[in-house]
Amino acid sequence: MAAAVHVGIPGPEPVPVQGCGVCKALGRQREDARRRLDLSKVSDCNVEIRNHPHGDRA
Ligand SMILES: [Zn+2]
Repeated sequence: MAAAVHVGIPGPEPVPVQGCGVCKALGRQREDARRRLDLSKVSDCNVEIRNHPHGDRA
């Protein structure tokens, strides 16, 4: 069990994957949204980070 102490966001957040351009962009958008306390945008970004295909190194 890793207890991550983070700013009032409930639940675990997906971590942007290194080397994935989409993650990089979404990670920046998420930080920006968090700074503006736009939590619905933050969770939007979380969903996208979780669901897109990372980097596609097939
Ligand atoms: Zn990604």
